[in-house]
Amino acid sequence: MKRIGVLTSGGDTPGMNSAIRSVFKTGVAHGMQVMGIYHGYKGLIEGRVDYLTHEQVENKMHKGGTVLRTARSEEFRTEGGVEKALSVLHAYGIEGLVVIGGDGSFRGCMELVKNGVPTIGIPGTIDNDLGYTDFTIGFDTAVNNVTNEIYKIRDTMRAHDRVGVIEVMGRNCGDIALWAGIAGAADLILVPEIDLPWDEAAKRLAQNKLRGKLTSIVMIAEGAGRAEDFVAYVREHTDVEIKATVLGYIQRGGNPSAFDRVLAARMGQRAVELLDEGKAGRAVGIRKNKIYDAALADALEVKDEFDMKLYELNEMMAQF
Ligand code: ATP
Repeated sequence: MKRIGVLTSGGDTPGMNSAIRSVFKTGVAHGMQVMGIYHGYKGLIEGRVDYLTHEQVENKMHKGGTVLRTARSEEFRTEGGVEKALSVLHAYGIEGLVVIGGDGSFRGCMELVKNGVPTIGIPGTIDNDLGYTDFTIGFDTAVNNVTNEIYKIRDTMRAHDRVGVIEVMGRNCGDIALWAGIAGAADLILVPEIDLPWDEAAKRLAQNKLRGKLTSIVMIAEGAGRAEDFVAYVREHTDVEIKATVLGYIQRGGNPSAFDRVLAARMGQRAVELLDEGKAGRAVGIRKNKIYDAALADALEVKDEFDMKLYELNEMMAQF
């Protein structure tokens, strides 16, 4: 393979720049030309393609976002959109592609593979919602970002004897809430994977108040409901003083953690090696700290397992 392309797709995640750099350098090391495709599948359809250079990837690894930009594309989901993408790849002589994104982006990869383009997926999403891999790129940074905010919110909650409810991202996955909750010593973690009725959660906060614990931190994953709604519920049913904070996009901005940079570098390397070995339609993942790959279709089938042990650890620590 002489020329490959790389694009980032879906939500941006801290660490994507490290993956791009690694794809570029590994490609060059294998004697390949590496082309950057800007704005994800949208840019692919529109032919926003250019050679990647050292200047474009150097001194970017420590930055959040993605130097290739990202986008979502409805057109790419249509037959016509895929055809346009194929003709752009053909016109630029791109023989293989690395796509860094979430599950939607992986489904896009499968369309390209079906049409004869060797494509490899790298998991870039802060949600950590892909079951085939222990970690996705960006998750660790998001957890660190949230953890830092928890301590700031705790300061002001403590000053006023209040309960702080912090809503975090994750879509249908509670991992950010769980990990940041543990790291930030949360008293209660509400995640979509665990059915904890709000009346029970409210009772616990009221009991905390009775036993003299006036300040608590509650983590709520967006998939488990809105912080404002939970706060309204608790106010209606208890006399607990409670405030909501929605962290929003600050979770996925900022400098990627060293862990995410290293993970992304390792995954980028493996993706290019797979193309070099003539493999197609693979998803790169990490299991027990070993980089591995699985067929895209199989990877997407793997159910994301919630770490009950971690959740129960927090439940225990919150009690004592
Ligand atoms: P994130 O987890 O950050 O949202 P994602 O990759 O899951 O990332 P999506 O918006 O679901 O984000 O997908 C990104 C893009 O992938 C879509 O805009 C679309 O162009 C393409 N895509 C998604 N699903 C499909 C599909 N079933 N077939 C073809 N292309 C798809």
